[in-house]
Amino acid sequence: MANGVQGVHDIETRCFIDNKFVEAKETFAIHNPSNGELTARISQADVDLVDSAVDAAEAAGPAWAALDSSTRAECLNRLADLLIAHTQQFCWLEAISVGKVVTFYPAEIQWAANVLRYNAGLAREIHGETSMATAGFLNMTIRQPYGACGAICPWNGPLIAIALKAGPALVTGNTLILKPSEKSPLTALYMGKLIIDAGFPPGVFNIVPGHGRVTGAAIASHMRIRKLAFTGSTATGRIVKKLAAESNLKNVTLELGGKSPLIVFPDADLEETAAMAAFSIAYNSGQICIASSRVYVHESIIDKFVGLYVAQLKKAMGKAGDALNPTTTHAPQADALQYERIMAYIDGANKEGAKLVTGGKRIGVQGYFVEPTVFLNPGQSSTINREEVFGPVASVNTFVSEEEVLKLANDTEYGLYASVFTKDLNRALKFAKQLESGMVGVNCTSPTMPFDLPFGGSKQSGEGRECALQALHAWTETKTVMIKL
Ligand code: NDP
Repeated sequence: MANGVQGVHDIETRCFIDNKFVEAKETFAIHNPSNGELTARISQADVDLVDSAVDAAEAAGPAWAALDSSTRAECLNRLADLLIAHTQQFCWLEAISVGKVVTFYPAEIQWAANVLRYNAGLAREIHGETSMATAGFLNMTIRQPYGACGAICPWNGPLIAIALKAGPALVTGNTLILKPSEKSPLTALYMGKLIIDAGFPPGVFNIVPGHGRVTGAAIASHMRIRKLAFTGSTATGRIVKKLAAESNLKNVTLELGGKSPLIVFPDADLEETAAMAAFSIAYNSGQICIASSRVYVHESIIDKFVGLYVAQLKKAMGKAGDALNPTTTHAPQADALQYERIMAYIDGANKEGAKLVTGGKRIGVQGYFVEPTVFLNPGQSSTINREEVFGPVASVNTFVSEEEVLKLANDTEYGLYASVFTKDLNRALKFAKQLESGMVGVNCTSPTMPFDLPFGGSKQSGEGRECALQALHAWTETKTVMIKL
């Protein structure tokens, strides 16, 4: 197993529509971020191909929605089994497209399979309510699928993002037109044949790769797509919501960016906290929406904590190298664009006068590797403290009082994930209540998240929730039925 994966050289580059693979008129290139070499040229679904996918999804919709929900769940369970069975292939494809390290990626595939299975398990939970409050009536609500729906995904956790959307969308009886990121289309397209093998009828689950401004915009503005789930940056989320509003006012859920605060009080277990805080920003080389990128540390422990944190960060990132090499632990950034964006943020922080504690440079000359980087007290209003870097770059800031740090942590337009580390239960609960964030970790931080409870952000980090029963609600419309007795 020299390169970490065995006997897997199958690349699918065509669109997957109506259970068939279809060539597009145009293609786009993706490159291997470990070495910059061309990986493949991928079909770019244009407006006509998106239309074909919507035609197929609409045609398949009524029969799919009319099935017993347990039959839909069986398809999801079989797809989950197939994801696991093809782990080696997925690892190879993701390594050569977005640089996912082969040793770590199986855990994400398992996670995606678990999400599909969990949603399959919710098949019997698609319930409405009843009311006897009106004299002479029995009233009720029923939950019905939207029909042909859209999903637009990012590249940083490709299979998880797909599972979080496809699971609840399909179990509730919708059909789907899914666009993977232009950076990570290979695993989604490879999934096409697994979708057939899992027994999904033609047209139920369609995959259309392409650039956001072409394929993504065609989905967001499509007049026959009634529901859209989007995960990506806040800037693109705003565009997508506008396209949805200006077309058919489709229902939109948004999972967007973050600038997550992590607060450390002196009574916390500092070694454990430093390890968790470091792993949060090191995971996936910092390319995760819920990364704890703003750390606030009480002034009485700042020197000790920074020492522990920097050591843990270097340990967590470990050895940079080819994502296909099983001894690699530090993955490259996903592509040249991401790499340049991160280096521009580091450059900007240096110019703004932030104190660089560690890192700040490129590793090697081949591939897109960034040193784990920490700035100390860059200032609350500094760019590095306010904008999402999406790389292994964190700021550590000192605070004195609870009131001060609560204000600093909430002083952001983002609100995805926040964490507080303290042994004081009252303080922990007060912060859990007052942190302006969709999710709060107490003595733990991201990527910790239970997928049987809602996932999502407040403020400009999102709208709506994924996971759990809330996802079933997000993918169904409520109809009120009045029955006169
Ligand atoms: P982008 O916003 O760049 O892209 C997200 C998706 O939107 C991609 O498929 C992209 O296409 C597509 N897109 C781009 N422009 C348009 C458009 N005009 N119309 C329709 N679709 C469009 O995000 P990234 O892929 O770079 O992902 C990183 C971002 O995602 C970070 O901000 C991160 O925080 C966020 N994220 C949020 C999560 C959450 O759950 N809250 C989870 C994971 C990531 P393409 O790139 O192919 O051109």
